[in-house]
Amino acid sequence: MRQPLVAGNWKMHGSRVDNAARIHLVAERFPNTDVACAVCPPYVYLAQVGELLSAAELPIALGAQDVSAELRGAYTGQVSASMLQDLGCGFVIVGHSERRQYLGEDDQLVARKFEVVRTTQMTPILCVGESLQERQQGRTLEVIGRQLNAVLERSGAGAFGAGVVAYEPCWAIGTGMTASPEQAQEVHAFIRGHLAQQDAKIADEVRILYGGSVNAGNAAQLFAMPDVDGGLIGGASLKAEEFLAILAAASR
Ligand code: PEP
Repeated sequence: MRQPLVAGNWKMHGSRVDNAARIHLVAERFPNTDVACAVCPPYVYLAQVGELLSAAELPIALGAQDVSAELRGAYTGQVSASMLQDLGCGFVIVGHSERRQYLGEDDQLVARKFEVVRTTQMTPILCVGESLQERQQGRTLEVIGRQLNAVLERSGAGAFGAGVVAYEPCWAIGTGMTASPEQAQEVHAFIRGHLAQQDAKIADEVRILYGGSVNAGNAAQLFAMPDVDGGLIGGASLKAEEFLAILAAASR
């Protein structure tokens, strides 16, 4: 049985004061739950949020929103996987659609990032998803398959062991448009089936999160789908009450 996971992607939001207030509010109401939880603040706040989580003794893992594909060296402005591990991160998001779209990250770069995270004890959260145009053209599964194949070809199915994939249709991120539970389930089942062609055990174990305008009102229906193992939550993770309600909806 896969343990559900709810991860908050704070994107480029926050300040020291806001972060402390948010963690304080989450700590006040944090439930005793079977759901794993993580928050991914911007790089510059990882240390602060890590300390806040430890001080509050919250069972919330720290995650990063990105990582360099390089291990170390003359790469000004980049942050390596070993640095993230040093700061206490347990998860690293790779291939978020905002990075693919605005920063030109392609499947090969994302696969390299996935691989460097696998060289550490951290877990990569591999984001995949189609654009609105690709969906309208009926190319959703082809695009998701291509994005998965880049990682499979570079690292093999074993690299997905205990890993996490997040299905995030680009048209649903930050738009208020959510995939229906049936649309999400269709793609999640495809992802699991695609991995199962190479390794059935790993496919059964991998957690597949849904992301894209999840909120307290739609989370339960999405998480009720058999292949939806929780969510990657953007905007709603910035509101403590909403995030906690989403966490409650993921409980099995
Ligand atoms: C995200 O940033 O990964 C995301 C899913 O954002 P939102 O929940 O705001 O759509």
